[in-house]
Amino acid sequence: MSSRTEHLPSRSGSAASLYPCGRELLRLPRPLRLVVLGVTGSIGTQTMDLVRRYPEQLQVAALSCRSNLAVLRRELESLRNDCPDHPEPWIAVADPVAHAEAMRDDALAPRLLSPGEDGIAEAVESPNDVHCLVNGLVGSAGLRPTLAGARRGLRIALANKESLVVGGDLVRREVLAAGAEILPVDSEHSAIAQCLSGRTPDEIEGLILTASGGPFRTTPADELQRVELEQVLNHPTWKMGPKITVDSATLMNKGLEVIEAHHLFGIDYDRISVVVHPGSHVHSLVRFVDGAVLAQLGTPDMRVPLLYAITGEKHWPLDTGKLDLLELGSLHFEAPDPERFPCLRLALEAGRAGGSAPVVLNAANEVAVAALLDRTLRYAEIPHIIEDTLSSLPSGTIESLAGALAFDQQARGKAAEFIAALSGRAG
Ligand code: MG
Repeated sequence: MSSRTEHLPSRSGSAASLYPCGRELLRLPRPLRLVVLGVTGSIGTQTMDLVRRYPEQLQVAALSCRSNLAVLRRELESLRNDCPDHPEPWIAVADPVAHAEAMRDDALAPRLLSPGEDGIAEAVESPNDVHCLVNGLVGSAGLRPTLAGARRGLRIALANKESLVVGGDLVRREVLAAGAEILPVDSEHSAIAQCLSGRTPDEIEGLILTASGGPFRTTPADELQRVELEQVLNHPTWKMGPKITVDSATLMNKGLEVIEAHHLFGIDYDRISVVVHPGSHVHSLVRFVDGAVLAQLGTPDMRVPLLYAITGEKHWPLDTGKLDLLELGSLHFEAPDPERFPCLRLALEAGRAGGSAPVVLNAANEVAVAALLDRTLRYAEIPHIIEDTLSSLPSGTIESLAGALAFDQQARGKAAEFIAALSGRAG
């Protein structure tokens, strides 16, 4: 055991695995009461679907959305119809204009929390009898509530990978101090967690993350210079929100996931590899010290990792399609191409550099992706914006949330400048 633990990471400042590998999970009562952040997004609506399927076991104590009141109302109505005896959840609406509109709605106003980030913090911190935080927020905005949930000692079903990319060491500190637990919702990390069931960290040789390769897996380099937004948003296997769909097309998503896996499982970057697996049937693999390799397979359905995390790593019945191995016939794997997908290389470099580099990488990427979705930036320009932002800012260490957010803001400003310069709108 001692010879293996010597391989555990030193660069991130801790040898402890954030994921409770080999440790006992929290024993939580029923009904398990959830806080669902990002309820109108893909993770949020699928969480609500699970609550309606398991009304005896799961309840929603509070939920949040940014501005999509139509979907919020629809989710609340479905909850009332299918779970009539559940107490009404508290509601956080982050966008101030949408919050003002919600205040005028008699069905929403009585349960409405403060606008902005304060309301999200209230959703995590104030309801009684909360056991599990489902963090389905997008981007570094997810870090603050993850830290709040950790301080409260909650189970955190984490879909917001940016929490760990931007604040991995901060999250680890709070989780270990408060006895909280982080269970991954990202399908790759959930697959690894499923392979690690009953294992201890010293048994792990390395992790293998699979990547679908996105819509441009076979697109030649010169054609990649000209792809349009509609092609970027056409993901071959997973139905997800726009930000992660863009990240999947640039392979930035896989780079962020390697950083996430490094923090979550306490595994050095040299022992995490990425293989492209276009079918997305194998969700990831663990290589053990005796040469054994375990994989987790299934049809692509995010409710599987969601339910596995929320339940504390139980497989509850779910009507996902059955994986038919005979129909599948064979599994195909190939190496990722760092030349055509420079975002993957940039993310791995930033992860290894540590400190502020992943924060800057992530912020620049968020700004670049937003500009692509706004049609003010082209797909092929995304890695240039990220690389220029990384090289224009001095690196530093991250000691606090405020420190992380300062680097985040600085990088957003720089990335916006580079994008404005590219589109001829500078000055
Ligand atoms: Mg994933």
